[in-house]
Amino acid sequence: MKLLSGKFAIVTGAASPRGLGKATATLMAAHGATIGVLDLEATAAENVARELGDGHVGLACDVTDKAACETAAERLLSAWGRIDILVNNAGITQPLKIMTIEPENYDAVLDVNLRGTLYMSQAVIPQMRRQRSGSIVNLSSVSAQRGGGIFGGPHYSAAKAGILGLTKAIARELAPEGVRANAVCPGFIATDITEGKLTDAMREQILQGIPMGRVGTAEDVAGCCLFLASDLSSYVTGSEVDVNGGSLI
Ligand code: NAD
Repeated sequence: MKLLSGKFAIVTGAASPRGLGKATATLMAAHGATIGVLDLEATAAENVARELGDGHVGLACDVTDKAACETAAERLLSAWGRIDILVNNAGITQPLKIMTIEPENYDAVLDVNLRGTLYMSQAVIPQMRRQRSGSIVNLSSVSAQRGGGIFGGPHYSAAKAGILGLTKAIARELAPEGVRANAVCPGFIATDITEGKLTDAMREQILQGIPMGRVGTAEDVAGCCLFLASDLSSYVTGSEVDVNGGSLI
């Protein structure tokens, strides 16, 4: 059964080859959605759109740039006529400690993760309101819930915690208008953000904290995003869904 037939979905930061955004875009496309692949570089975004198959669109969009978010949403809306799903996936992290965060570090991490989530949401909400339907899925992190991890600094935890509050506020404000918003909190997932940077000792330490005994995959997270984007979750809004192998049990 295809869960997103006839739906139009935007996924930000979806050009990273082994990233959560690309895995989510791929799964959503397999479920019948037409995807707008957004990322910093047009060529990378266009290549992923082509890999997904006919009809998908790749666009350059820096989510920290409000005008760029509006332009991307307008271009996709004029091609599609509607926008059903937004996955705010673009994110960066920096492995800093509290006293080594400089103002520019704080700005960069808050801008991409939190400001980008606001700007891209603002770019699609007017259309979702007009449709009286839509699903926004925001990528938070276990770092928001437990105050950091191996790679995420305190500013990353703050940004991802901000996303939880923003998600609930969007969900509360837009619920009467048929628009849902939920957050996904991945635990440790093997992607370019994490792989190649782990020593054996770090990996062992991480695995000890995961009751399921394995790190997550991008597909584990994509499945949760698909559920939240689809009508299977029609009565779910304002929630934060953990995808962490039981790390917080
Ligand atoms: P990734 O680095 O593989 O991909 C992130 C993508 O975002 C890249 O393609 C990058 O070009 C893009 N991007 C960065 N800045 C951007 C900007 N200003 N505008 C548009 N795109 C931009 O990361 P990932 O591991 O796939 O993570 C995806 C999301 O999931 C992020 O929000 C991350 O914080 C979150 N997350 C990841 C993990 C994990 O373990 N990998 C865990 C928890 C949360």
